[in-house]
Amino acid sequence: AIEARDVAFSFGQTPALRGASIAVDAGEIVAVTGPSGSGKSTLLHCLAGILVPDSGEILFGGVRVDSMTETQRSSLRRDRFGFVFQFGQLVPELTAAENVALPLLFGGVRRAEALRKAHSWFARLGLEGMEQRRSGELSGGQAQRVALARGLVAGPEVLFADEPTGALDSLTGEHVMDLLVDAARAQGTTVILVTHEPRVAAYADREIIVRDGRVNALERIAS
Ligand code: ATP
Ligand code: MG
Repeated sequence: AIEARDVAFSFGQTPALRGASIAVDAGEIVAVTGPSGSGKSTLLHCLAGILVPDSGEILFGGVRVDSMTETQRSSLRRDRFGFVFQFGQLVPELTAAENVALPLLFGGVRRAEALRKAHSWFARLGLEGMEQRRSGELSGGQAQRVALARGLVAGPEVLFADEPTGALDSLTGEHVMDLLVDAARAQGTTVILVTHEPRVAAYADREIIVRDGRVNALERIAS
């Protein structure tokens, strides 16, 4: 399980989280929703060990993430977490296959093996033939599927996705969500998904609403 307990975080004078608590079970797919500026991305970044809370605790498998060193947190992110963001954020100089292989290369997997594993994701996500393209030569939906493959290729225990369909039209977004949910279920990956879109949130097992830097327990909706 991954958990935030009474987490507060401010950007300078701007409070982003004011005592947010959330617990996500292993294998669960949770949608985090709420108004713009309510603290969704900040909560995701605290859970993922990208930001360190000012107070409160982050626990992953019962281990305190907030008290880890930066080196320990970066190993945790590299070895056990995967990430997908709104605009894919592919490295434009690399081919699609090289982009997917990146987390494996960072994890010390040899190049040939990393590329072989990366290639196996292309057919799975309906991207056959796209392996050698650069990100500028892909459609938005294709680029986002490449980003999804990169997020999942190393078999993360938790996938953090911040508006993974935010840049896509609704049909393409639903296709990406179908693939995301199928792949996550197939490998038992926990998914924490930030989204504005009710149709995307409907893919989750559970929806958690963030308002004004807090998670209102009364608003936890079982979907
Ligand atoms: P959105 O739906 O628009 O992405 P969000 O719910 O993800 O919003 P956050 O990005 O977590 O909201 O922001 C929470 C608060 O922290 C907001 O008041 C925002 O202005 C502020 N904030 C976020 N990032 C920064 C930053 N890098 N520097 C200063 N303030 C920030
Ligand atoms: Mg956000």
